[in-house]
Amino acid sequence: MTPKGARYLYWISIILLLGPLLPFRIENTYFPNQSQTLIAFTIDDGYTSWIESINPILEKFNLSITAFINDLDAVDRDLTWNDVEKLSKTGRWEFGWHSTNHPDLVRLTDKEEEDQISGFSESFIKHSLSRPETFCYPYGAYDFTTMLTTEKYFSAARTVNEGPNTVYWVQKHPMEIKVTRIYQDRDIDFYKDIVSENLNKGTFIVFYLHAVGEPVAGDIEITLKNFEELMEWLTKQNTQIVSFSQGLNEMRNRNYQMKRNIRFDNPLQRRYTSTLPIPSRYWELSFGLARFIGKYNPSIGDLYLKYNTFITSFILFSLLLCMYMSRPSRRRTKT
Ligand SMILES: [Zn+2]
Repeated sequence: MTPKGARYLYWISIILLLGPLLPFRIENTYFPNQSQTLIAFTIDDGYTSWIESINPILEKFNLSITAFINDLDAVDRDLTWNDVEKLSKTGRWEFGWHSTNHPDLVRLTDKEEEDQISGFSESFIKHSLSRPETFCYPYGAYDFTTMLTTEKYFSAARTVNEGPNTVYWVQKHPMEIKVTRIYQDRDIDFYKDIVSENLNKGTFIVFYLHAVGEPVAGDIEITLKNFEELMEWLTKQNTQIVSFSQGLNEMRNRNYQMKRNIRFDNPLQRRYTSTLPIPSRYWELSFGLARFIGKYNPSIGDLYLKYNTFITSFILFSLLLCMYMSRPSRRRTKT
């Protein structure tokens, strides 16, 4: 390599290695033209409390809910198609699709995956339900192939990733709608705080639960009393409680302005746990790269995600090696 090439290599490696460790980050803030916060309740799988506890509360406060169901003849659930028909007739229940028999979609072949995602038509027609508009990934598991296949049949998909959805997020990432999970019968102030923080910000909060006052895998997610209290409190806020697809439609019709600002931020902070002691900024960048690749080639993107730890470590190691090999003293001894 020419000395000039080595100098470039040295500085490029330095910038790529040290750039992510600067103590600030660039942040985009989105200002929607409508500030009312939208709230949807989404409920998965199928429990008896849907009929016994939830439906009466929906009636009491005149609200609707969105339920994600599988083919109830193909999975072991308390709820039957008969129950679904009854709930559907109340006009308060919107039904979305949750795959035929609740597998981890990421582990299936492309063909099996597509069958699971598109398997709604027969049962929905048979039970005179309207075609589901949205999908929900079983176990919250999805990759780029899953998103691409889901997009063929549904306008949006719900994940189990936490957070409120901005207008920008709903419009740019409809296959990755985020949730606020209700579980372990947490103090309801926890949920009230999340809603209060989001008031007048024009976000879409999607609550996610399975049952009310009924154990889910040994846990009561929320008691009937707390659920009722939360619902009552919500109806008194400047929010609108909508079905999942209503909320999405409303968000799609909103406009927003973006402002970019720089915020001080600790680069060594751990945002999510990783097995290797690598600052989380590198993981974020690596994940961004995976997303970029996945957009153009889902299969390669999926492989990247699968071997993310190895690839990220390999890239960092290669950069360190480049920096070391092209360091100034070495260049001088060569010339
Ligand atoms: Zn489920």
